[in-house]
Amino acid sequence: MNATTRALADQARAASRDAVNVLHAVARSSGATVHAAPVGPITAAILGRFAALAFAGDLTLCEHLSFTAPRPAFWTAWSPKTIRCAHCCEAEAARIRGTVEDRTCDRCHRVADVVHAVAGQLPAVVVGARAGRAPYAVPPVQVQFGLCSPCRAADQPPAALPESRPTTTRRTA
Ligand SMILES: [Zn+2]
Ligand SMILES: [Zn+2]
Repeated sequence: MNATTRALADQARAASRDAVNVLHAVARSSGATVHAAPVGPITAAILGRFAALAFAGDLTLCEHLSFTAPRPAFWTAWSPKTIRCAHCCEAEAARIRGTVEDRTCDRCHRVADVVHAVAGQLPAVVVGARAGRAPYAVPPVQVQFGLCSPCRAADQPPAALPESRPTTTRRTA
């Protein structure tokens, strides 16, 4: 590993730690909990959408992120073609807040009275220098999506979850 790759790997590790701290801070501020869980079938399917976009080259970074300076990044299933910095992710969340989109399950696409926010953390990945190409880092990505109650129960049996509250609890008129 050359010095440039090593420096990038150090940055990537620090960014991954920051990202986990961000996940905990977001959870605290919304009254949710962070816990280790096996990846359920619906989470796996949504991660598969993320991977498919990545493999197809259909994912872009917002203008504040780069492959040479990793920092916490966010991917939302409802707006999936961009990986965003915290600021841009907040702007995207604000865009849908209070709209039907905010109450739409990212799995079954039904509009629900209660949508549970689910997030998971993927660590940064560094690809080393080779054949004249500079090393680069995919930032740590917080994957975020919302599930209606039946989809959430299908993904994680309720007995496996600590007590948690839905983050969106709007009623249709
Ligand atoms: Zn941004
Ligand atoms: Zn659903």
